[in-house]
Amino acid sequence: QSFSSLPLDSAVIEALSRNGITAPSPIQQASLEHALTGRDIQGMAQTGSGKTLCFALPIVNKLNPSLRRPQAVILCPTRELAAQVAEQCRMVASHIPNIKVLTLCGGQPMGPDIQSLKHGCHIVVGTPGRLAEHLEKRRLDLSQVTTRVLDEADRMLDMGFIDSVDAIFAATPNDAQSLFFSATFPEPLAKLAHRYQLDPEVISV
Ligand code: AMP
Repeated sequence: QSFSSLPLDSAVIEALSRNGITAPSPIQQASLEHALTGRDIQGMAQTGSGKTLCFALPIVNKLNPSLRRPQAVILCPTRELAAQVAEQCRMVASHIPNIKVLTLCGGQPMGPDIQSLKHGCHIVVGTPGRLAEHLEKRRLDLSQVTTRVLDEADRMLDMGFIDSVDAIFAATPNDAQSLFFSATFPEPLAKLAHRYQLDPEVISV
């Protein structure tokens, strides 16, 4: 299988090939055909499996570049992971002009976040506590979100982020696509999935 057999924009395929990414990994093969048609996904995958592209590709593929408002919200347990995820989103979007990916993470100064939010963006990547705070202060508008992502969801729950995750997703449209990735799906995560996912495709490789 190759990426060009999937319903992906030519700018996305070009970005992948320029970065030496030509053959989908097993989790990508199993999930992309579903995710690219809008299905919700519960993916069981480890770091290094290529799980990031399982959500970065569907997100970038359906972005409206002329709408400079958050169209995807990606929640990560740590700043380090959020930075890596943002980098892969920028790579996938590198052949589409003027796509802005913003990272918003706890433990960072607030000033730059607030300035960047004023300038607008297409994709928001961050840790749940900081995003919930911006949301509460009405600096973050999630009304145009079409994709919501949990990356390493079990770790986020272990860190006590579940209420923040719920508050953030509650501020997105009901019919947004939900792509959840985790090593395990314990009960609190299954409950969250039940609230935000419709007939998810369950994938473990
Ligand atoms: P991840 O597991 O999503 O953190 O990805 C780990 C690394 O593998 C990242 O640097 C990706 O850019 C790279 N990668 C992801 N998918 C592929 C692929 N299909 N072929 C080659 N490299 C990939």
